[in-house]
Amino acid sequence: MHFDRLFVNARLATMAGRGPIVGLIDRGALGVREGRIAYVGSMADLPEDASAGEKTDCLGRLITPGLIDCHTHLVYAGDRAREFERRLEGASYEDIATEGGGIVSTVRATRAASDEALASESLRRLDALMAEGVTTVEIKSGYGLETGSEAKQLRVARSLATRRAVDIKTTFLGAHALPPEARNDRKAYVDALCQEMLPAIARQGLADAVDAFCESIAFSPAEVGRVFDCAKSLGLPVKLHADQLTNLHGAALAASYGALSADHLEHTDEDGVAAMAKAGTVAVMLPGAFYFLRDTNVPPIETCRRHGVPMAIATDCNPGSSPLTSPLLAMNMAATLFRMTVAECLIGFTRAAAQALGCLADRGTLEIGKRCDLAIWNVETPAALVYPMGHDPLERRIFGGRG
Ligand SMILES: [Zn+2]
Repeated sequence: MHFDRLFVNARLATMAGRGPIVGLIDRGALGVREGRIAYVGSMADLPEDASAGEKTDCLGRLITPGLIDCHTHLVYAGDRAREFERRLEGASYEDIATEGGGIVSTVRATRAASDEALASESLRRLDALMAEGVTTVEIKSGYGLETGSEAKQLRVARSLATRRAVDIKTTFLGAHALPPEARNDRKAYVDALCQEMLPAIARQGLADAVDAFCESIAFSPAEVGRVFDCAKSLGLPVKLHADQLTNLHGAALAASYGALSADHLEHTDEDGVAAMAKAGTVAVMLPGAFYFLRDTNVPPIETCRRHGVPMAIATDCNPGSSPLTSPLLAMNMAATLFRMTVAECLIGFTRAAAQALGCLADRGTLEIGKRCDLAIWNVETPAALVYPMGHDPLERRIFGGRG
Protein backbone atom coordinates (compact mmCIF):
# COMPACT_ATOMS: atom_id res chain seq x y z
CA MET A 1 0.00 0.00 0.00
CA HIS A 2 1.57 3.28 -1.10
CA PHE A 3 0.78 6.78 0.18
CA ASP A 4 1.95 10.13 -1.15
CA ARG A 5 2.47 11.11 2.44
CA LEU A 6 2.26 9.39 5.81
CA PHE A 7 2.01 10.98 9.26
CA VAL A 8 3.01 8.62 12.06
CA ASN A 9 3.29 8.72 15.83
CA ALA A 10 0.40 11.19 16.14
CA ARG A 11 -2.53 11.51 18.50
CA LEU A 12 -5.45 11.75 16.11
CA ALA A 13 -8.60 13.60 17.15
CA THR A 14 -10.66 12.13 14.32
CA MET A 15 -13.91 13.85 15.43
CA ALA A 16 -15.66 10.97 13.60
CA GLY A 17 -19.02 9.65 14.79
CA ARG A 18 -21.99 11.38 16.36
CA GLY A 19 -22.45 13.12 19.68
CA PRO A 20 -19.87 14.79 21.91
CA ILE A 21 -16.88 12.61 21.10
CA VAL A 22 -13.41 13.49 19.90
CA GLY A 23 -12.56 9.97 18.69
CA LEU A 24 -8.94 9.95 19.88
CA ILE A 25 -6.48 7.46 18.41
CA ASP A 26 -3.19 7.15 20.31
CA ARG A 27 -0.04 6.29 18.37
CA GLY A 28 -2.00 6.94 15.22
CA ALA A 29 -1.09 7.10 11.55
CA LEU A 30 -2.68 9.06 8.72
CA GLY A 31 -1.98 8.29 5.08
CA VAL A 32 -2.66 10.70 2.20
CA ARG A 33 -3.26 9.96 -1.45
CA GLU A 34 -4.06 12.67 -4.03
CA GLY A 35 -4.94 15.18 -1.33
CA ARG A 36 -7.43 12.87 0.37
CA ILE A 37 -7.18 10.80 3.53
CA ALA A 38 -6.44 7.20 2.49
CA TYR A 39 -5.66 5.71 5.89
CA VAL A 40 -6.53 6.72 9.42
CA GLY A 41 -6.00 4.40 12.36
CA SER A 42 -3.42 3.08 14.75
CA MET A 43 0.17 2.59 13.61
CA ALA A 44 -0.10 -1.02 14.74
CA ASP A 45 -2.81 -1.66 12.16
CA LEU A 46 -0.90 -0.12 9.23
CA PRO A 47 -0.43 -2.74 6.49
CA GLU A 48 3.09 -4.17 6.59
CA ASP A 49 3.77 -3.15 3.01
CA ALA A 50 2.85 0.49 3.67
CA SER A 51 5.25 2.88 1.96
CA ALA A 52 5.18 6.63 1.48
CA GLY A 53 6.76 9.31 -0.69
CA GLU A 54 7.16 11.42 2.42
CA LYS A 55 6.96 10.29 6.03
CA THR A 56 6.50 12.66 8.96
CA ASP A 57 7.11 11.62 12.58
CA CYS A 58 4.68 13.73 14.63
CA LEU A 59 6.45 12.95 17.93
CA GLY A 60 3.16 12.37 19.76
CA ARG A 61 1.58 15.68 18.69
CA LEU A 62 -2.18 16.11 18.42
CA ILE A 63 -3.68 16.23 14.91
CA THR A 64 -7.18 17.60 14.38
CA PRO A 65 -9.05 18.26 11.15
CA GLY A 66 -8.15 21.71 9.79
CA LEU A 67 -10.35 24.20 11.62
CA ILE A 68 -13.46 25.55 9.89
CA ASP A 69 -14.65 29.08 10.72
CA CYS A 70 -18.27 28.86 9.57
CA HIS A 71 -19.43 32.43 10.29
CA THR A 72 -17.32 35.50 9.47
CA HIS A 73 -17.72 38.97 7.99
CA LEU A 74 -14.01 39.02 7.21
CA VAL A 75 -14.06 41.14 4.03
CA TYR A 76 -14.60 44.80 4.89
CA ALA A 77 -12.69 48.07 4.75
CA GLY A 78 -11.82 50.50 7.52
CA ASP A 79 -11.89 49.77 11.20
CA ARG A 80 -13.93 50.87 14.17
CA ALA A 81 -11.17 51.28 16.75
CA ARG A 82 -11.89 54.99 17.18
CA GLU A 83 -15.58 54.22 17.78
CA PHE A 84 -14.56 51.63 20.40
CA GLU A 85 -12.41 54.27 22.07
CA ARG A 86 -15.21 56.87 21.99
CA ARG A 87 -17.61 54.44 23.59
CA LEU A 88 -15.17 53.78 26.42
CA GLU A 89 -14.93 57.54 26.91
CA GLY A 90 -18.68 57.60 27.47
CA ALA A 91 -20.05 58.54 24.02
CA SER A 92 -23.62 57.34 23.40
CA TYR A 93 -24.83 55.44 20.34
CA GLU A 94 -26.43 58.69 19.16
CA ASP A 95 -23.11 60.56 19.54
CA ILE A 96 -21.37 57.89 17.50
CA ALA A 97 -24.08 57.88 14.83
CA THR A 98 -23.82 61.69 14.61
CA GLU A 99 -20.05 61.37 14.21
CA GLY A 100 -20.66 59.01 11.27
CA GLY A 101 -19.73 55.81 13.11
CA GLY A 102 -21.51 52.47 13.38
CA ILE A 103 -22.19 50.03 10.55
CA VAL A 104 -22.72 52.97 8.16
CA SER A 105 -19.02 53.82 8.44
CA THR A 106 -18.05 50.27 7.43
CA VAL A 107 -20.51 50.41 4.52
CA ARG A 108 -19.04 53.72 3.37
CA ALA A 109 -15.44 52.46 3.57
CA THR A 110 -16.27 49.15 1.89
CA ARG A 111 -18.13 50.81 -0.96
CA ALA A 112 -15.21 53.18 -1.55
CA ALA A 113 -12.46 50.52 -1.46
CA SER A 114 -10.97 49.04 -4.62
CA ASP A 115 -10.92 45.25 -5.02
CA GLU A 116 -7.20 45.28 -4.30
CA ALA A 117 -7.45 47.43 -1.17
CA LEU A 118 -10.33 45.33 0.15
CA ALA A 119 -8.38 42.13 -0.50
CA SER A 120 -5.21 43.32 1.19
CA GLU A 121 -7.03 44.51 4.33
CA SER A 122 -8.93 41.21 4.48
CA LEU A 123 -5.83 39.07 3.96
CA ARG A 124 -4.40 40.27 7.28
CA ARG A 125 -7.42 38.85 9.06
CA LEU A 126 -7.42 35.68 6.99
CA ASP A 127 -3.73 35.15 7.79
CA ALA A 128 -4.50 35.40 11.50
CA LEU A 129 -7.16 32.69 11.19
CA MET A 130 -4.85 30.47 9.15
CA ALA A 131 -2.06 30.88 11.73
CA GLU A 132 -4.36 29.03 14.13
CA GLY A 133 -5.04 26.11 11.81
CA VAL A 134 -8.06 27.30 9.81
CA THR A 135 -8.41 25.66 6.38
CA THR A 136 -12.02 26.60 5.47
CA VAL A 137 -13.61 30.01 6.05
CA GLU A 138 -17.11 31.23 5.39
CA ILE A 139 -17.26 34.92 4.43
CA LYS A 140 -20.42 37.01 4.22
CA SER A 141 -21.18 40.15 2.25
CA GLY A 142 -23.44 42.74 3.88
CA TYR A 143 -21.31 45.90 3.91
CA GLY A 144 -22.10 46.84 0.32
CA LEU A 145 -25.90 46.88 0.50
CA GLU A 146 -26.26 47.57 -3.20
CA THR A 147 -25.64 45.13 -6.02
CA GLY A 148 -22.24 46.32 -7.22
CA SER A 149 -20.66 46.60 -3.78
CA GLU A 150 -22.15 43.32 -2.53
CA ALA A 151 -20.79 41.62 -5.66
CA LYS A 152 -17.40 43.23 -5.02
CA GLN A 153 -17.28 41.91 -1.45
CA LEU A 154 -18.13 38.37 -2.58
CA ARG A 155 -15.74 38.51 -5.54
CA VAL A 156 -12.92 39.63 -3.25
CA ALA A 157 -13.83 36.90 -0.75
CA ARG A 158 -13.59 34.26 -3.48
CA SER A 159 -10.30 35.71 -4.74
CA LEU A 160 -8.64 35.16 -1.34
CA ALA A 161 -8.62 31.41 -2.08
CA THR A 162 -6.37 32.08 -5.08
CA ARG A 163 -3.85 33.92 -2.87
CA ARG A 164 -3.75 31.55 0.08
CA ALA A 165 -4.01 27.78 0.63
CA VAL A 166 -7.51 27.94 2.04
CA ASP A 167 -11.06 27.17 0.94
CA ILE A 168 -13.63 29.98 1.02
CA LYS A 169 -17.42 29.60 1.16
CA THR A 170 -19.31 32.79 0.39
CA THR A 171 -22.67 33.94 1.74
CA PHE A 172 -24.83 36.78 0.44
CA LEU A 173 -26.00 38.93 3.37
CA GLY A 174 -27.72 41.81 1.58
CA ALA A 175 -30.32 41.67 4.37
CA HIS A 176 -27.76 42.77 6.98
CA ALA A 177 -28.87 46.37 7.52
CA LEU A 178 -30.85 49.01 5.71
CA PRO A 179 -28.46 51.11 3.62
CA PRO A 180 -28.48 54.82 4.57
CA GLU A 181 -30.20 55.80 1.32
CA ALA A 182 -33.12 53.41 2.05
CA ARG A 183 -33.86 54.72 5.55
CA ASN A 184 -37.30 55.96 4.59
CA ASP A 185 -38.38 53.06 2.43
CA ARG A 186 -37.74 49.60 3.85
CA LYS A 187 -40.09 47.94 1.42
CA ALA A 188 -38.26 49.34 -1.60
CA TYR A 189 -34.97 47.88 -0.27
CA VAL A 190 -36.46 44.42 0.35
CA ASP A 191 -38.04 44.57 -3.12
CA ALA A 192 -34.63 45.41 -4.59
CA LEU A 193 -33.01 42.59 -2.59
CA CYS A 194 -35.43 40.01 -3.98
CA GLN A 195 -35.93 41.33 -7.48
CA GLU A 196 -32.49 42.66 -8.39
CA MET A 197 -29.64 42.07 -5.95
CA LEU A 198 -30.04 38.39 -5.11
CA PRO A 199 -30.85 37.29 -8.68
CA ALA A 200 -27.79 39.22 -9.96
CA ILE A 201 -25.51 37.65 -7.33
CA ALA A 202 -26.88 34.18 -8.12
CA ARG A 203 -26.44 34.73 -11.86
CA GLN A 204 -22.78 35.60 -11.32
CA GLY A 205 -22.33 32.49 -9.16
CA LEU A 206 -20.92 34.58 -6.31
CA ALA A 207 -22.78 33.05 -3.36
CA ASP A 208 -22.88 29.55 -1.88
CA ALA A 209 -25.69 30.50 0.52
CA VAL A 210 -27.96 33.34 1.63
CA ASP A 211 -28.09 34.83 5.14
CA ALA A 212 -30.19 37.53 6.81
CA PHE A 213 -30.17 39.45 10.09
CA CYS A 214 -33.56 38.87 11.73
CA GLU A 215 -33.85 41.41 14.53
CA SER A 216 -35.94 44.39 15.62
CA ILE A 217 -33.07 46.68 14.54
CA ALA A 218 -32.65 44.87 11.21
CA PHE A 219 -35.20 42.78 9.27
CA SER A 220 -38.54 41.38 10.44
CA PRO A 221 -39.44 37.68 10.14
CA ALA A 222 -41.81 38.57 7.27
CA GLU A 223 -39.05 40.42 5.40
CA VAL A 224 -36.62 37.55 6.00
CA GLY A 225 -39.28 35.15 4.68
CA ARG A 226 -39.40 37.10 1.41
CA VAL A 227 -35.61 36.93 1.04
CA PHE A 228 -35.58 33.21 1.85
CA ASP A 229 -38.38 32.47 -0.64
CA CYS A 230 -36.28 34.22 -3.26
CA ALA A 231 -33.13 32.27 -2.24
CA LYS A 232 -35.05 29.00 -2.44
CA SER A 233 -36.37 29.85 -5.89
CA LEU A 234 -32.76 30.38 -7.00
CA GLY A 235 -31.68 27.06 -5.46
CA LEU A 236 -29.51 28.62 -2.74
CA PRO A 237 -29.42 27.25 0.84
CA VAL A 238 -30.17 29.68 3.67
CA LYS A 239 -28.93 30.46 7.17
CA LEU A 240 -29.94 33.12 9.67
CA HIS A 241 -28.64 35.56 12.32
CA ALA A 242 -31.38 34.61 14.76
CA ASP A 243 -32.59 35.69 18.21
CA GLN A 244 -29.39 37.52 19.18
CA LEU A 245 -30.92 40.54 20.93
CA THR A 246 -34.59 39.54 21.21
CA ASN A 247 -36.67 36.44 20.55
CA LEU A 248 -38.36 36.99 17.20
CA HIS A 249 -38.52 33.18 16.79
CA GLY A 250 -35.80 33.38 14.17
CA ALA A 251 -34.52 29.88 14.96
CA ALA A 252 -37.94 28.39 14.18
CA LEU A 253 -38.18 30.54 11.05
CA ALA A 254 -34.78 29.30 9.86
CA ALA A 255 -35.79 25.71 10.58
CA SER A 256 -39.01 26.12 8.60
CA TYR A 257 -36.82 26.86 5.55
CA GLY A 258 -34.55 23.88 6.26
CA ALA A 259 -31.71 26.31 6.99
CA LEU A 260 -28.14 25.02 7.20
CA SER A 261 -27.69 26.93 10.45
CA ALA A 262 -29.22 29.42 12.83
CA ASP A 263 -26.58 31.61 14.44
CA HIS A 264 -26.26 33.54 17.78
CA LEU A 265 -29.46 32.18 19.46
CA GLU A 266 -28.98 34.06 22.76
CA HIS A 267 -32.78 34.41 23.09
CA THR A 268 -33.96 31.20 21.38
CA ASP A 269 -36.57 29.22 23.32
CA GLU A 270 -37.08 25.46 23.51
CA ASP A 271 -39.62 25.45 20.65
CA GLY A 272 -36.98 27.06 18.45
CA VAL A 273 -34.39 24.45 19.38
CA ALA A 274 -36.90 21.62 18.84
CA ALA A 275 -37.69 22.99 15.38
CA MET A 276 -33.97 23.11 14.55
CA ALA A 277 -33.53 19.52 15.70
CA LYS A 278 -36.35 18.39 13.44
CA ALA A 279 -35.02 20.31 10.43
CA GLY A 280 -31.38 19.30 10.93
CA THR A 281 -30.36 22.96 11.35
CA VAL A 282 -27.00 23.49 13.09
CA ALA A 283 -26.74 25.94 16.00
CA VAL A 284 -23.78 28.31 15.54
CA MET A 285 -22.50 29.82 18.78
CA LEU A 286 -20.65 33.15 18.55
CA PRO A 287 -19.01 33.81 21.92
CA GLY A 288 -16.86 36.66 20.56
CA ALA A 289 -19.94 38.85 19.98
CA PHE A 290 -21.40 37.78 23.33
CA TYR A 291 -18.16 38.86 25.03
CA PHE A 292 -17.62 42.09 23.08
CA LEU A 293 -21.23 43.27 23.59
CA ARG A 294 -21.06 42.20 27.25
CA ASP A 295 -24.20 40.13 26.70
CA THR A 296 -25.60 38.18 29.63
CA ASN A 297 -28.11 35.86 27.90
CA VAL A 298 -26.25 32.62 27.36
CA PRO A 299 -27.51 30.68 24.31
CA PRO A 300 -29.50 27.51 25.10
CA ILE A 301 -26.57 25.08 25.19
CA GLU A 302 -28.23 22.52 27.46
CA THR A 303 -31.43 22.59 25.39
CA CYS A 304 -29.40 22.00 22.21
CA ARG A 305 -27.68 19.04 23.91
CA ARG A 306 -31.00 17.57 24.98
CA HIS A 307 -32.47 17.87 21.48
CA GLY A 308 -29.30 16.64 19.80
CA VAL A 309 -28.79 19.85 17.80
CA PRO A 310 -25.16 20.00 16.57
CA MET A 311 -23.36 23.06 17.93
CA ALA A 312 -20.76 24.87 15.83
CA ILE A 313 -18.62 27.75 17.09
CA ALA A 314 -17.26 30.59 14.95
CA THR A 315 -15.33 33.83 15.35
CA ASP A 316 -18.03 36.04 13.74
CA CYS A 317 -15.04 38.20 12.75
CA ASN A 318 -16.55 41.64 12.08
CA PRO A 319 -15.62 45.24 12.87
CA GLY A 320 -18.70 46.15 14.93
CA SER A 321 -19.38 43.41 17.45
CA SER A 322 -16.64 40.77 17.22
CA PRO A 323 -13.23 41.96 16.02
CA LEU A 324 -11.90 38.46 16.66
CA THR A 325 -9.53 36.47 14.47
CA SER A 326 -8.66 33.70 16.92
CA PRO A 327 -10.57 30.42 16.71
CA LEU A 328 -8.68 29.15 19.76
CA LEU A 329 -9.84 32.11 21.84
CA ALA A 330 -13.38 31.55 20.53
CA MET A 331 -13.14 27.95 21.80
CA ASN A 332 -11.89 29.15 25.18
CA MET A 333 -14.74 31.68 25.36
CA ALA A 334 -17.30 29.00 24.43
CA ALA A 335 -15.94 26.94 27.32
CA THR A 336 -15.69 29.70 29.92
CA LEU A 337 -18.74 31.79 28.97
CA PHE A 338 -21.10 29.07 27.67
CA ARG A 339 -19.74 26.08 29.65
CA MET A 340 -19.31 24.03 26.50
CA THR A 341 -17.11 20.97 27.04
CA VAL A 342 -13.68 20.48 25.47
CA ALA A 343 -15.13 17.94 23.03
CA GLU A 344 -17.94 20.35 22.11
CA CYS A 345 -15.44 23.17 21.54
CA LEU A 346 -13.41 21.04 19.14
CA ILE A 347 -16.51 19.71 17.37
CA GLY A 348 -17.65 23.34 17.08
CA PHE A 349 -14.74 24.21 14.79
CA THR A 350 -14.64 20.91 12.90
CA ARG A 351 -17.49 18.44 12.44
CA ALA A 352 -20.40 20.75 13.34
CA ALA A 353 -18.86 23.68 11.43
CA ALA A 354 -18.59 21.52 8.30
CA GLN A 355 -22.23 20.54 8.73
CA ALA A 356 -23.19 24.21 9.11
CA LEU A 357 -21.61 24.83 5.69
CA GLY A 358 -23.19 21.76 4.10
CA CYS A 359 -19.81 20.12 3.46
CA LEU A 360 -19.54 17.45 6.15
CA ALA A 361 -19.32 14.72 3.50
CA ASP A 362 -16.07 16.30 2.32
CA ARG A 363 -14.31 17.59 5.49
CA GLY A 364 -14.67 18.25 9.21
CA THR A 365 -13.50 14.83 10.43
CA LEU A 366 -10.48 12.59 9.83
CA GLU A 367 -12.07 9.81 7.79
CA ILE A 368 -11.05 7.96 4.67
CA GLY A 369 -12.03 9.80 1.48
CA LYS A 370 -12.24 13.25 3.03
CA ARG A 371 -10.01 16.20 2.14
CA CYS A 372 -6.69 16.01 3.92
CA ASP A 373 -6.97 19.35 5.73
CA LEU A 374 -5.13 19.04 9.04
CA ALA A 375 -3.92 21.09 11.96
CA ILE A 376 -0.91 19.64 13.77
CA TRP A 377 -0.54 21.07 17.27
CA ASN A 378 2.29 21.24 19.78
CA VAL A 379 0.03 19.77 22.43
CA GLU A 380 -0.92 16.23 23.37
CA THR A 381 -4.54 16.60 24.45
CA PRO A 382 -7.64 18.42 23.17
CA ALA A 383 -8.00 20.16 26.55
CA ALA A 384 -4.58 21.75 26.06
CA LEU A 385 -5.95 23.48 22.94
CA VAL A 386 -9.02 24.93 24.62
CA TYR A 387 -7.50 25.88 27.98
CA PRO A 388 -4.89 28.59 27.25
CA MET A 389 -5.69 32.16 26.25
CA GLY A 390 -3.55 34.01 23.73
CA HIS A 391 -1.24 31.11 22.99
CA ASP A 392 -1.01 29.54 19.54
CA PRO A 393 0.48 26.04 19.59
CA LEU A 394 0.04 25.35 15.87
CA GLU A 395 3.00 23.33 14.56
CA ARG A 396 1.88 22.90 10.98
CA ARG A 397 -1.15 23.32 8.78
CA ILE A 398 -1.87 20.88 5.97
CA PHE A 399 -4.25 21.90 3.15
CA GLY A 400 -5.33 19.27 0.63
CA GLY A 401 -2.43 17.06 1.74
CA ARG A 402 0.17 19.84 1.29
CA GLY A 403 1.97 22.11 3.69
ZN1 LIG B 1 -22.53 37.64 12.05
